[in-house]
Amino acid sequence: MPISFHGGHSGNYCDHAEGKLEDIICNAIEQGFTHYGLSEHMPRTQTEYLYPEECERGRTPEQLERMFALYIQEGRQLQYKYKEQIHILVGMETELIGTNFDEIEHFYHKYSPDYLVGSVHYVNQIPSDYSESDFEKLEQLLGGTEAVFCAYYDAQFELLQRIRPQVVGHFDLIRLFRPEFSLSAKIWEKIERNLTCAISYDALVEINARAFKKKQREPYPQYKILQMLISLGGKVTLGDDSHHPKEVGLNYEKVFKFLKEQGISSLYALEKDEQGCLFHTKIPVS
Ligand SMILES: [Zn+2]
Ligand SMILES: [Zn+2]
Repeated sequence: MPISFHGGHSGNYCDHAEGKLEDIICNAIEQGFTHYGLSEHMPRTQTEYLYPEECERGRTPEQLERMFALYIQEGRQLQYKYKEQIHILVGMETELIGTNFDEIEHFYHKYSPDYLVGSVHYVNQIPSDYSESDFEKLEQLLGGTEAVFCAYYDAQFELLQRIRPQVVGHFDLIRLFRPEFSLSAKIWEKIERNLTCAISYDALVEINARAFKKKQREPYPQYKILQMLISLGGKVTLGDDSHHPKEVGLNYEKVFKFLKEQGISSLYALEKDEQGCLFHTKIPVS
C-alpha cells in the first residue's frame, strides 16, 4: 500500500512544478495510495531568494504568499472531496533561509497546515540543491565540501530542535551534487545527532524517491544513513516529492525493493483524529 508525505507540488502553486493538484490526488487514488500528504513549499519573503523561473514570470514575494494561500484552500477542498477514498493531509515544506525560524512559525500559525515537512535547501543563504555553480560557490565560501555538508547538517539540527517538523524531508539532500563524497567521522557525528533529535520527538523520516529522478543511485537518505536510523529505533515514511501528476509514486519499486532487502517491515503514516490531533498509523510493507 503506497503512501507519500512529501509532494503534491503542482503547476498552479509552484513555478518549478507542472500539472494540476487534483490530478495528483486522482493519480494517487488510481495507484491505490492510502495516504497522500501535500506539502507545498513555504513562500519565500524576500525578492533576492526568488528562483530564476520565478523572476522570469515577474513573481513577487507577495504573489508567492497568495499562491500558497490558494494552495491551502484547494488542498482543503480536495481533502474533503476525496475523504472516502484517501487520507489527505495538507502540509507545508519549510524553507529555512539563515535563521528565519520566526517566519516558518508565522506561516505555520497563519495557514495552519496539518503538518510540516522539515527541509533544508539553503545553506548560508545560497540554494544548495539548485545548480552545480551555486554549490561550487558554497564550497568556495565555506572552504570545501566537508564544510558545506557540516553547515547543512547544523542548519538541519537547528530546524529540528526549534520547529520539530513531523516529517523530516530528504534528509541528505546536500549530497545531490556530490553523491560520491565520502562522509567523514565529523559528518557522521552530525548525522547521528540529527537522527537522534528527530527520534526524540517522534518525527518520521521520509525515504524520498525523487533522488532517483535526479540520477542518484540511492534515495534520500542514502542506505547507510537509513540503516543508522533503523538501528537507533527511528520511524520511516515515504515521499515521492512529486512535482507533476506523473511523478506520483515514481521509482517506488526501487524503494520497496530496498525496504524488503533491509527487512524493514513497517512504514508509518500520519493521520488526524476528530480533534485535529495527529497520530501515527503503522503500515505493513507488502
Ligand atoms: Zn519543489
Ligand atoms: Zn524539498
